[in-house]
Amino acid sequence: MHYRMIPRLGAHASIIGFGGEHMLGRTEADVFRTIDHAIGRGINIFDLFWPQADFRDAISKAFRGRRDSLILQGHIGTVMVGNQYSRSRNVALSRKYFEDFLRRFHTDYVDIGMMHFVDTMADYEEAFESDFIRYVEGLKRDGKVRCIGVSCHTASTAMRMIDTGLIDVLMFSINAAFDVFPKDLTLENAIDNLAFRDVEQYSAVDEDRMKLYRLCEEKGIAITVMKTYGGKLLLFDETSPFGKKLSPAQCIEYALSRPGVVSALIGCKTPEEVDTALHYLDAAPEERDYSQITNSPKYRIHGKCVYCGHCSPCPQGITVADVTKYLDMARDFGEIPATIAGHYWGLSHTAEECISCGQCERRCPFGVKIIDNMKQAKEIFGPHRCTG
Ligand code: SF4
Ligand code: SF4
Repeated sequence: MHYRMIPRLGAHASIIGFGGEHMLGRTEADVFRTIDHAIGRGINIFDLFWPQADFRDAISKAFRGRRDSLILQGHIGTVMVGNQYSRSRNVALSRKYFEDFLRRFHTDYVDIGMMHFVDTMADYEEAFESDFIRYVEGLKRDGKVRCIGVSCHTASTAMRMIDTGLIDVLMFSINAAFDVFPKDLTLENAIDNLAFRDVEQYSAVDEDRMKLYRLCEEKGIAITVMKTYGGKLLLFDETSPFGKKLSPAQCIEYALSRPGVVSALIGCKTPEEVDTALHYLDAAPEERDYSQITNSPKYRIHGKCVYCGHCSPCPQGITVADVTKYLDMARDFGEIPATIAGHYWGLSHTAEECISCGQCERRCPFGVKIIDNMKQAKEIFGPHRCTG
């Protein structure tokens, strides 16, 4: 397993994490087998959003004796109304189910207190312009949550929430289809009605989503990914919007190669599904390579770097994807924040060393003008000055 730092938590999360949603309704024995297997294979971050008592109790039993080595992403604002799960911003009700979480998981803190499902601006107002956010801030002050997260599917709303300065972790739906999905169709539509298939043409990577990922990386806001497989629609030829399925390893590679992403959370029902996801760790680079999406007649993305790494290796040792990512971040901000310059100059090889050989451009399936980008990076970041 590999691990990435959650900057504001100060802890490392496994790059493949566990989405707990499919554990609902399963027997305690099944839950134990699956969770135990995941932990045994190095998974240490778990997303836990259901408020149902039997779900919490079963997973809690599987965690027994190991809670302190795990990162729990527990949701705030998931409650039961009658027999139905519901989202709530009611403080008393949210508190009741948050305290229930602590009790059932035999813990006095949640690593990531995840404000549940804030998607629209109306959701934002309900969550951030009310007592709900004050309640969540209080949990952090009291040490009951170690950092504040929010789950969201909409880039503009996520940006707005990041602007508040209160968010430490963003749980966001990321996959190759959502990143190019036309703005006039909702993602819910894509999942619920297989609307992926109805899209005539995926014309461009949504630059707002890319900016969001880069903003998170720049601010040290960790992204944990949901819908890594696009609700499994990407895994089958018949439902993939690209006319051809992507493998789990390709989907995971796509998510993990977005800036800011710390962990791709995979919803698994069985130990075998855990292993399917973890095959990513042993997969050869060509098995992970998702650039086949450019072969789809529906996909016309040209000239924009998606940080896939397909253009490697560079004879000068430059990691083009990283240089381009920092270049794009510098372009986003207009001026270069010190953190980005620091990351850029921390690379083993920078654009300074580019000899314009063009090998990378011949390999890039997305038609990116890499040599021009290297020249711009040289100009923007300037000559390296040693400050030591
Ligand atoms: S330049 Fe092309 S191949 Fe290289 S990382 Fe960007 S999109 Fe991928
Ligand atoms: S053009 Fe520059 S970045 Fe690309 S392979 Fe050649 S030296 Fe490396």
